[in-house]
Amino acid sequence: MPFGLLNQFISNNTSLLVRFDDICENMKWKYIEKCEILFDELNIKPVLGVIPNNRDNELLKYPNKKNFWEIVRNWQSKGWTIAMHGNSHVYDSETNKKDYFNYGGKSEFFGHSLEELMKRIKLGLEKFNSENIKIRTFFAPNHTYDKNTFLALKNFGINEIIDGYGLMPYLDHDIKFIPQLFYKNVMLPFGIQSTQIHLNYWDEKDFELFKKFIIKYKKKIITYDQAIARGSNSFINLSINFFLKMGLKTLRAL
Ligand SMILES: [Zn+2]
Repeated sequence: MPFGLLNQFISNNTSLLVRFDDICENMKWKYIEKCEILFDELNIKPVLGVIPNNRDNELLKYPNKKNFWEIVRNWQSKGWTIAMHGNSHVYDSETNKKDYFNYGGKSEFFGHSLEELMKRIKLGLEKFNSENIKIRTFFAPNHTYDKNTFLALKNFGINEIIDGYGLMPYLDHDIKFIPQLFYKNVMLPFGIQSTQIHLNYWDEKDFELFKKFIIKYKKKIITYDQAIARGSNSFINLSINFFLKMGLKTLRAL
């Protein structure tokens, strides 16, 4: 490929999706409010991982917003994407690193029967439905899935997930995955990536760093629709993800 074309190819395939985690009635509201002003100014449309029926005691400690669902509807009407982030966000199983991504840790979804998973996903979707929120994409608390999780999601028509390894969106188990690699503000020189932002861990300094990061890379920030449109098992996407995996394995072996 001539150098000019290669540059063009890299530029076309370097983008960032802004994903926020743990959005629910109880959270550090002042930071999402600051982010909302920033995003409106820059015309950025993030993905918000909303917990439909939060019962997580850690999260319940944060300030509560009574008109939460009205605010979510307002975000949706701005073109922000609302993703389903689990149902209750309560971990009641242990993965022992047998989860789909081998991340390990506790889970709300891993290891349960298909029937139980269907019940949990149904409860979440019913809440969103009753609040007039459209859901087409999902990501599990603590990144933990098993094959039944995918089956249960597909039974409810959800076949898009923002999670996992890779530098490009890809298809597996008939699900489109948009990869999410880093916790920090990182813009890779190549690839289509999602951030993972926990506002509840922020202080003022974190907001300022995030703001600088967003302003610096605003031209590279894409919407959920733009990211998912790139999801395919084209030879090029598969090759890129294969080399990333090899690279990560090599780094770990050093
Ligand atoms: Zn979470």
